Amino acid sequence: MERGMRLLTRWKRNHTEENRRYRDRHPDKVRARNAVTHAIRDKKLVPAKLRLCVDCQSQARRYDHYRGYDTENWLNVEPVCIPCCARRERARKGTA
Ligand SMILES: [Zn+2]
Repeated sequence: MERGMRLLTRWKRNHTEENRRYRDRHPDKVRARNAVTHAIRDKKLVPAKLRLCVDCQSQARRYDHYRGYDTENWLNVEPVCIPCCARRERARKGTA
């Protein structure tokens, strides 16, 4: 019962409507990000916030999948701050 409740709580967290819609739209992105999360947990990557943004040298906040979200590039990431990450996203979409 204990275990069942824990699983249910986790299931709810991962299956809210908003999360589901996001995953439906960006399945590749979500998988790539999960790989980074697991790599950090397994100590293969330092958390982004302990590194400096490669673009502006301020504190990084996340890893950018600068080579895209293909399986072989899941851990090809660069630490970036939020503004630089947003700028990169815009540049990639060609609307910068
Ligand atoms: Zn930056």
